[in-house]
Amino acid sequence: MLNAFEPRVVLQEVPGEVSLAWLVTGCPLACPGCHSRDSWDPQAGSPLTGERLQDWLERYRGLLTCVLFFGGEWDREALLALLRQVRRQGLKTCLYTGRERVGRSLLAELDYLKTGPWRADLGGLDSRDTNQRLICLSTGESLNHTFWRRS
Ligand code: SF4
Repeated sequence: MLNAFEPRVVLQEVPGEVSLAWLVTGCPLACPGCHSRDSWDPQAGSPLTGERLQDWLERYRGLLTCVLFFGGEWDREALLALLRQVRRQGLKTCLYTGRERVGRSLLAELDYLKTGPWRADLGGLDSRDTNQRLICLSTGESLNHTFWRRS
């Protein structure tokens, strides 16, 4: 079972999508400079059950196009069940992971994937030097350029 904080609707993390974003607690990667240290404790937040997910999907029915999970890949089966639940309702799925890759079973249930740990010296997706990649899995296209500010 995964725990998560209360979700929020976000417009920028997945380009072109209106996403319900869940910060899943229990990330084991401990990146130096992590902005979400309060999420490292796997007991933080509340159980992310299918019922809880469904309740939030009903609240925003007709407004959302995607559900984004910040983490959760460390409990693959639990995350897979949630991703399948989302897709059965015609919504897209995205995972932000600090790992460099995830397994095939997760890839099969994802539309977007952000990879790579936080590196303060390289910056996040809005940095042209970042080690992180946001990929549209249906096309294989990197979406990093959509985060770059025009100068
Ligand atoms: S992957 Fe993300 S949440 Fe996990 S430690 Fe690194 S920056 Fe923090």
